[in-house]
Amino acid sequence: MKFEYSDYNVIVTGGTRGIGKAVTEAFLEAGASVTAVYAANDAAAADLREALAGRPLTTVKLDISNYADVESFFEDFDKKHESLEVLVNNAGIRRDGVVGMMPEADWSAVIDTNLSGTFNMSKFALMKMLQHKYGRIITITSPSGRMGFAGQANYAASKAGQVALMKSLSKEAARRSITANCVSPGFIDTELIADLPPEMRKEYSNQVPLKRFGTTVEVASSVLFLAARESSYITGSVLEVTGGI
Ligand code: NDP
Repeated sequence: MKFEYSDYNVIVTGGTRGIGKAVTEAFLEAGASVTAVYAANDAAAADLREALAGRPLTTVKLDISNYADVESFFEDFDKKHESLEVLVNNAGIRRDGVVGMMPEADWSAVIDTNLSGTFNMSKFALMKMLQHKYGRIITITSPSGRMGFAGQANYAASKAGQVALMKSLSKEAARRSITANCVSPGFIDTELIADLPPEMRKEYSNQVPLKRFGTTVEVASSVLFLAARESSYITGSVLEVTGGI
């Protein structure tokens, strides 16, 4: 797909690895300036900067679950950027375990990053987008939030919460031409699911009608589709990119 995003400022959380990295690359390829936020992996951020040297890419180390840090990030962003057209809430973590055995810290870590992090980023992005009465907020959720998965109560709850957050935000922001949507990827080959044993990978692949895991580029294309100016009548929706699950 060919997209044109010249003069766009885009923020991608978790934008230096996995799905977020593909989203960052796709927006840069389409002419946008991208700020890619990451939590801790400096090496991955440095590799990406090196691979994309000469492109308008900034990487920022920021824990999106920390409200005060997110506020400071946006104060700085505001000084350097006239506008913000697109926020992609992609950063996410897993800490799997059955409810009966789940440490409170694993529950909180996942909710804090996946759900509160999405709230923190969306709140301040929205305030910036309101200045120009235009914007696209896209959040990467998961089928886990719709169906629930054994051993993923924290993750599933955070992903369902993201959908509810985007749907509510879409209603609040609609009058200002700001849309809020979700992309829900199925099994995508990234480090997030690198711990799946080979036999489970095979079993899961067989359950996918397209009989394979998806690629990060296939998810990125869906994000750029929703971010397009032409996607102006799509808001409060969830686009499934699951190979038919
Ligand atoms: P990865 O584990 O490959 O990458 C996660 C990214 O999020 C990293 O860049 C990481 O930073 C960043 N991150 C994690 N915590 C924070 C934080 N507190 N603050 C800022 N950045 C943070 O994940 P994927 O690319 O696989 O997943 C991306 C999104 O897609 C997630 O929301 C996930 O739930 C969702 N998803 C993934 C699926 C899959 O099969 N892979 C399926 C369905 C949904 P750092 O590099 O510093 O660690």
